[in-house]
Parts: sequence; C-alpha cells; structure tokens
Amino acid sequence: MTSIADRPEVTTFQQFIDGQWADAGEGATFTRTSPYDGRVVGIYPNGGVADAQKAIEAARRTFDSGAWSTSPAADRARILRKAADLIAERADALATCIANEVGKPKTMAFGEVMGTAEVFQLFAAKALNLSGDSFTQQIPDAVGIVIHEPVGVVGIITPWNFPLLLISWKIGPAIAAGCTMVAKPSHYTPGSTLMLAGILAEAGLPAGVFNVVTSETDNGALVGQHIAASELVDKVAFTGSTASGKAVMRAAASNVKKLSLELGGKSPNIVFPDAQVDAAVAGAFFGIYLNGGQVCQAGSRLLVSNRVKDEFVAKLAGMGAALKMGDPMDPATTMGPVINESQLAKIEGYLEKGKAEAKLVTGGNRAIDGDLAKGLFVQPTIFDEVTNTDTIAREEIFGPVLSVLSFDDVEDVIRTANDTMYGLAAAVWTKDINVALKVAKGLRAGTVWVNAYHGTGLYNMPYGGYKQSGFGRELGNAGLEEYMETKSIQIKLQ
Ligand code: NAD
Repeated sequence: MTSIADRPEVTTFQQFIDGQWADAGEGATFTRTSPYDGRVVGIYPNGGVADAQKAIEAARRTFDSGAWSTSPAADRARILRKAADLIAERADALATCIANEVGKPKTMAFGEVMGTAEVFQLFAAKALNLSGDSFTQQIPDAVGIVIHEPVGVVGIITPWNFPLLLISWKIGPAIAAGCTMVAKPSHYTPGSTLMLAGILAEAGLPAGVFNVVTSETDNGALVGQHIAASELVDKVAFTGSTASGKAVMRAAASNVKKLSLELGGKSPNIVFPDAQVDAAVAGAFFGIYLNGGQVCQAGSRLLVSNRVKDEFVAKLAGMGAALKMGDPMDPATTMGPVINESQLAKIEGYLEKGKAEAKLVTGGNRAIDGDLAKGLFVQPTIFDEVTNTDTIAREEIFGPVLSVLSFDDVEDVIRTANDTMYGLAAAVWTKDINVALKVAKGLRAGTVWVNAYHGTGLYNMPYGGYKQSGFGRELGNAGLEEYMETKSIQIKLQ
C-alpha cells in the first residue's frame, strides 16, 4: 500500500462519453479538496445538461443498435471477469483515489475496492446463468415461454460514501443483463467511477455502453434531474438521500421509468440480555463507527434491554479509545473525517440537539486535537437515555453519533424499532433463536442480521429498503432482475 510519504499528484480527470474521454462541453472544471487537510486531490469536468444529453444519446444509440443487448452472455461475463481482475490489479490506485476524495482510511478503501472486484465476479457468474421459464403442461394446444430482456438505458446516480462499491451493485447487473448506462457520480467522489470507466473499456466493454458525466454541486442535481426525467432513459438506479430520491421519483414519472431507490436509514441495533456481550459491544461499535457513521445502514439507534443497558453502554464508551482518527493514508487510522463542511455543520447541529434531548456519554464535539484541527473530524459520540420521539432517534445524522434507547420485552422492542419512516437494516443480538426470528420477522426492514452488524460474509443476498428507505433490490438474483424486462410468449399449437 502507498505509504504516507507517497502522496499522489493531483489527478485531472475527463468524462467518458461514447467510448471517448472528454472535457465538459464548456470546458469548465471543478475541484475536490481532501476533507482531511483541504488539499486539492482532483480536478474534474463540470459537465452540464448538454454533456448528459450526449451521454444519454450515446447509451440510447448503443442499446438500440442491438449488438450489445443481444451479445452472447459469455462475452458479457468475460468482460465482467476481466474488469474484476483489472480492479484487483489497480486496487492501490483506486483505494488512494477513494481515500483522498472520501477521507476514509485507505485500508478500508482497499476493502471497498476488493469487494467491488468480487461484485463483478458474482455478476459474471449470473450472466452465464441467465434463463427463462416455460409453460408446457397447462393445456394441450399451447406452450408458453417466459423470456427476459435487458431493460434498456439505465441512468445511474450515486452518493459519495462508498463511491466504487455502490456503483458496482448497479453496473454489474446492468452489464450482465445487456443494458447500457449513463452514470453521474457524486461531485465529492467522481474519481473512482471515472477510473472504472477506463477499466471497463480496457476489459472490452464496447463504446457507448458505459458513459460517465461529472458535475459540481447544484449542477449535479440538475444533471441528475435531467437523467431522471429523460424519455430516452428506461430505468434509473439511484442511491442517495430520501429527499433526493423523492425528486428523482418525481422526474422519473415523465415516461413512467422503472426505478430502484436505495435511500436513507435509521437502523435499529437490538441487544437482548442473553447476548454474547463482547461480540454485541463490538458489533454496536462497528455498526455506528464504520466509515465515521456515514453509512446508510449504520446502526444509529441502539436498543438495549433495560436489564443490561448501563453495563453495555459503559463497555461501549470504553471502546472509544480503540478508534484512531487521522490521516487516511496512515495504516493505523481507523476513522477519517466527515465528507464536507456542510455535513460537519449538520452533525454539529445534531450534537447540540442531542445534548438538549438526552444524556451525553462520550464525545459530543468536533475533534480538534493536534493535526485533526485541519480536517473535518467529529468525536465518536454516544447519547444515552434517548427516547424514540427525540430528533436524534428519528433523523438520519450520517455521522459518528449513536443514540441509545432501552426496552423491556420483545413486543416493546419490535414496536419501537419499527417506529421510524425508514426500513433499511436492523440487527438483533441474542442466543435464543426463537427471539431472534420473532424479532427478525417482526421488523419492517430489508436486511436483518442476527449476532452481526453490517454483514456476515453472506455477501450476495438481496439488499434494499422498506418504507422510505426505498424500493427495489440490489445484489443477488433480485438485483439482476431489476435490470431485465419479462416477456410472455404464448404459442397456439396448430
Ligand atoms: P444525495 O442525495 O445528496 O446525493 C446522491 C446523488 O444524487 C449525488 O450524485 C447527487 O448529485 C444526486 N442528486 C442530488 N440531488 C438530486 C436531484 N434532485 N435529482 C437527481 N439527482 C440528485 O446523497 P449523498 O449526500 O451523496 O449520500 C448520502 C445519502 O445517501 C444518505 O441519506 C444515505 O443514507 C444514502 N445512502 C443510501 C444507501 C443505500 O444503499 N440505501 C447507500 C449509501 C448512501
């Protein structure tokens, strides 16, 4: 891995449209500065609606020509496998780019990159297994065939927190299915998506299949809206905040586009008194502090049984020392800065709110010791004695801020856990499989972990939200089906 001394030069990127690298139509650019130290880490084209339109038209033409959408699945699988190999080969450069732009520790960015390579392998295998269905025994003189076809041109709009992994959940199935794409990454983290465009081209993806437009701030929303509203686009796969997701949904009504929305969360992490305490404490810690809490599925509402809550919270607070905030390039760093000034201000607002609403156990302020002062760091924070009506229990903070609530029994905790507009993920910690399953079945959330948080290693299971956490699923077979239409062919035998 790159050492602290090996700072890369500032990279100047171009957009990728119809197989060509291109500046923005007007030649405008924007920069990204590191949330760790304010250095400029990348310069990108500030593309506008005209650039997006070019990219959309390229994707449309390429899809409609039929060569790609009807290509042998084995060819698409080969491209995905080759891309996976190239991603793994270039893991260091990709991880450096992600660490610079997001501010997350490079060691963790490296994990994100390797996870991305795995997603491409998974969808390569799925491409080879594409199949349909048949109806042959219903009546004597008719046969039915169910076939699947690529959905068409997919608009892909992504956030900044896992810029490479989350886009791979969309690109992998889109390529496996034979779709073409126009991607608009977050303006905070466009670099890895642009690097991926180069990798996909090198892996043999034909021109026009994957196009990327980059644009700054409000322009980003404008370009996102243009993609979401375009009648040349058949589907939008969006990951981001619930507010932006609603705007995408409204725009997508133009041509009754298909949509998958992966939105925000306020996920409950539930600890019963019989839980294996050390594992549950570690899970709660990882659940909230991974990526500085900037994770859609963060375990930001910790619900602990009244019988063990005080002991549990004391242990959890004691783990804070295990977090090392600092330079993302330092292998010892385990938590980076938050993404930008406005997110920092938003988190600070919630810290003040939390101090008024609940009992501050640890943290509660911006972290400014030594070198941290030059970056956008927030102390890992725990609020205890939170009630589910408090703002810090209801709103997504997207920072290292944990709200602790307590409960009495299974019915009580299911009711409280479900009392939220979100339904992305949840976890339950107990040795009693009956309690675990009762709670898991009672929760209105798309993913429930038992005795784990953020995952178990069962990687390729469907992922997505209930309620205002969105709809549609990513990964697994369900994640591939989102990129395909279903056609029934009925044959009358003569
Ligand atoms: P965001 O909604 O601000 O931006 C996401 C993307 O949408 C960006 O590319 C942005 O430019 C674009 N965008 C913004 N406004 C738009 C509009 N009106 N129309 C079209 N596009 C628009 O989100 P963010 O701050 O980048 O990411 C954080 C949010 O993403 C959090 O709410 C988090 O929970 C959510 N998220 C969800 C998941 C999931 O899988 N459910 C994963 C990661 C992040």
